[in-house]
Amino acid sequence: MTEKLYDSQRYAREFTANVQSVSPLEKEGQWAVVLDRTLFYPEGGGQPADRGSLAGLPVSDVQLKDGRIVHVVSGAAPQGEVKGIIDWERRFDHMQQHTGEHLLLGAFFRLFQANSCGFHLGEQVSHLDLDRTELSPDEIFQAEALANEMIFANRTVRARLLAEDEDMPEMRKKPTKAFQALRVVEVEDFDRCPCGGTHVEKSGEVGLVKIIGQERKKGRLRLFYLAGKRALLDYERKNRDLTAIGALVSMPPTESLAAVEKQQDKMMQLNQRYAQLQSRLAELLAERLLQAGEELAELRLIVHLAAPEDGELLDELSRQLTQREKALFLLAGEDPRSGRKQLFFGRSADVALDMKQLLAAVQKQRGGKGGGTPNLVRLQCQEEWDMSELLEMARQEALKLAAQK
Ligand SMILES: [Zn+2]
Repeated sequence: MTEKLYDSQRYAREFTANVQSVSPLEKEGQWAVVLDRTLFYPEGGGQPADRGSLAGLPVSDVQLKDGRIVHVVSGAAPQGEVKGIIDWERRFDHMQQHTGEHLLLGAFFRLFQANSCGFHLGEQVSHLDLDRTELSPDEIFQAEALANEMIFANRTVRARLLAEDEDMPEMRKKPTKAFQALRVVEVEDFDRCPCGGTHVEKSGEVGLVKIIGQERKKGRLRLFYLAGKRALLDYERKNRDLTAIGALVSMPPTESLAAVEKQQDKMMQLNQRYAQLQSRLAELLAERLLQAGEELAELRLIVHLAAPEDGELLDELSRQLTQREKALFLLAGEDPRSGRKQLFFGRSADVALDMKQLLAAVQKQRGGKGGGTPNLVRLQCQEEWDMSELLEMARQEALKLAAQK
């Protein structure tokens, strides 16, 4: 069994220990090192492993195996007495996140008898799972506020191993598996639960906890939260963003939401008006094209290459022309949204020609992807195709098709 120095020396950053065993790992130059004692916390209980150095070599992972703590180091195999240094910034961050979890869970349990059923201390954001899914946003905020009250009250956080002959104290959560030695973590007069992780000594060191998101699934309420410096940095980022949004809408940050909502409404109205105007424009254009169309026996043939600024009208123009009378139309243009050149072949309901047949005739000569219905088809054109030339080719094919009838 490796002696867990991190249990008794919460704020120690360096230690010396004796190497008990070194074995090579699969990766060249990597070793699994077991010491008689260590400050390195091994991954477990939702908390990631510590990082740092051992005998000057980087420690990239720490795992607990059969009571022995295994350090993964890279370089020359360490021997004898070694000095270990843990990455304190990372460790203290984990202590803040982990103690923050206890404070939040303690609050949810006290206020709503909600208990924990999962925890993960993430690289950026951590989450905890509750067994009560019906908590309202207001209730979630109440629990967060109580957790922060406990931070401001600067309560002592005790961690101790339970004596063998000691009765199991009352706890928020029962230990899930048989612990070799049960470790109990208590936030003074507030919360008690079994835990093997690392925690701060005074709750005030957590600084702040903030729930930043939630997800409901499979009977669990998952809450994403930040504690300590992470919460501060998040506040800084959000404050900066909100100030920038406020500047965009010429409002103080606290009033920018209302201003953005107003702009959204206005944008929606403008979009509606724009669609109406596009439709009107297409209607006028359809009228003009019909009048200028080539008179054939029983129909008018329209051949039209749209100006670049009218490219996005082609869908609506095609739709409208199919609703006219005795119209056969060949339209070409570039869709400004996708930047793609395209052709539309269509006809009104009273013209008995199959546009898919026309599409097939053009594709036979040029290829290209296309499809549609017997009264309207679309052909995606390749960049290098000359649209005027293609329209003329389609016109010849359309005349042939009309002559067959
Ligand atoms: Zn804990």
